Amino acid sequence: MVELMRAARLHEVGAKMVIENVERPVAKGTDVVVAVKGCGMVPNLANVLANWETWYPHMPLPPRPAIFGLDPVGVVHEIGRQVMNIKRGDRVYVNPGRSCGACHACNSGTPQKCEYWTLNGYFGYNPNSLEIFKRYPYGGFCEYMLAPQSALVRIPDNLQFQQAARLGYLGTSYAAIKKMGPLAGKSLIVHGATGTLGVGVTLVALALGISRIFAVARGRPLLDRLRLLAPNRVEIFSNRDASTKDWVKSLTGGRGADLMVDTLGAVASLDAFKDAMYGVRRGGRIINIGGTAGELPVDVKWWMDEQMELVGSVWFTTAEGQELADMIQQGVVDISSLQPKTWPLDEINEAISSVASGDGGFTSYLVEI
Ligand SMILES: [Zn+2]
Repeated sequence: MVELMRAARLHEVGAKMVIENVERPVAKGTDVVVAVKGCGMVPNLANVLANWETWYPHMPLPPRPAIFGLDPVGVVHEIGRQVMNIKRGDRVYVNPGRSCGACHACNSGTPQKCEYWTLNGYFGYNPNSLEIFKRYPYGGFCEYMLAPQSALVRIPDNLQFQQAARLGYLGTSYAAIKKMGPLAGKSLIVHGATGTLGVGVTLVALALGISRIFAVARGRPLLDRLRLLAPNRVEIFSNRDASTKDWVKSLTGGRGADLMVDTLGAVASLDAFKDAMYGVRRGGRIINIGGTAGELPVDVKWWMDEQMELVGSVWFTTAEGQELADMIQQGVVDISSLQPKTWPLDEINEAISSVASGDGGFTSYLVEI
């Protein structure tokens, strides 16, 4: 007999989501079914729903009617016969990163390099993602979702579901920081520091030993709040009217910062990105995890002469998600400054429109189910 569940579905781009009954997934093979308790909402969701297919026609959304929802948390409800290391009742975060699971990249522990790399419940990176959406058509805005066992991050007992729904953007920050190497004695420009990713980068970099953070954003009140996380290590700057490069150089004897991470959103200015980049010192490393699009004119001679490293980093592996969850459990990473704001599933359309005018990276938005 077919069991039904409640799900929020989008029938066409531009329409509202509709709560309706759909068939509940069944766990087979190495998959599990998770009873969803909450799902984090990205501040970018309204933009993705409205504009994605126009902006990035090569990157497919899931076929409609679609169940979106990027950052689900919940309890394992049912396991497939081949599942060994996960059991019913486990509290989990479902990493939405999907890949084929069988290519050289996947087998090397680098699923982001897989030709099928997809963010389940959100969007794909090329037409191969349509194959992933066929197999995993459930995002987190529903009562039960299907997930491969390899996507599950165990949530420690001292981490509430509301907090764990933030693991996606914290994990993305952590994966970027791992690509920086040892942080001791280093300085870091966090560009877009007061957004969801920027606050995540600041929290995790402080926890892992960065000496000095140059936090750059537009709005002052949130920058002041960011500085209070570690007043001796975080210096703040509003780039609304002045150059990030000049500010960082003035504080570093003209040399610049060792590292930079850019976290800006889809419609951010490339001029601001470029200005901040030239605030990084000779031999420095610049990592991009933001959604800014467009061609960035980079002086390739500067790149070679100064031995600069430009690195792209997308999302994170389930292993990195688990490392982060374990560090939160042990108090290495303190996320107590992040405050949840929640809506019930029935109010998902209000939630999506409210998140679009969000109040910065200290707030974690989620739908509770
Ligand atoms: Zn693969």
